[in-house]
Amino acid sequence: MFGAVIDYSSIYDEDFAINLHNSMPRLNPGDTISCMINNSLIVNPYRDYEETQTFIIVAKVDEGYYLYVPHYINIKDSKVADQYVCKKLQINTKYLNENIVYISEHMVAAIVKKDEGCSCKICKEYKRFAGPNQDDGSFICYSCRINPYI
Ligand SMILES: [Zn+2]
Repeated sequence: MFGAVIDYSSIYDEDFAINLHNSMPRLNPGDTISCMINNSLIVNPYRDYEETQTFIIVAKVDEGYYLYVPHYINIKDSKVADQYVCKKLQINTKYLNENIVYISEHMVAAIVKKDEGCSCKICKEYKRFAGPNQDDGSFICYSCRINPYI
C-alpha cells in the first residue's frame, strides 16, 4: 500500500464473475444450488461444461461449501462423510457415510432454493422456518433450550 502498486487484473481474469459473486448471499446447510460439471468435476460456471446438477449444501466453511453428492452423480474428488468428517464439519448425521465434495464459493452457478430455517447450535438438527434466537446470531432449538444438559 505504500508505493507498491498491485495489478489486480493479473490476479483476477474474470472480473465479471467476481463481481457477480460479491453480491451473492452466503448460503447455509440446507440450501440447494446448481453447479456445472465437466469430466466428472465441478467446474467454474464461466467455463465450458457438460451438464448441470443440483446439490444440497451440507456444511459451510471459510470461502466454500461441502455438498451432498447423491450416488447417481459421479464426482471425482468427492469423499465419504464418515463419523470424523461429519463431526468436524458439523454435518447432519443423516449424511453419515454419504459422499460429499468441497467447492469454493465461485463454483456456485445458481441458487435453486434458499431454505428458510436454522440449524440448532447444540444438536445440529435443522429446523425449517426457524430464525436466530441467540445474542451471537445463532439458533438453539426448543428441546435444547429446555434440556441444556443433554
Ligand atoms: Zn437443538
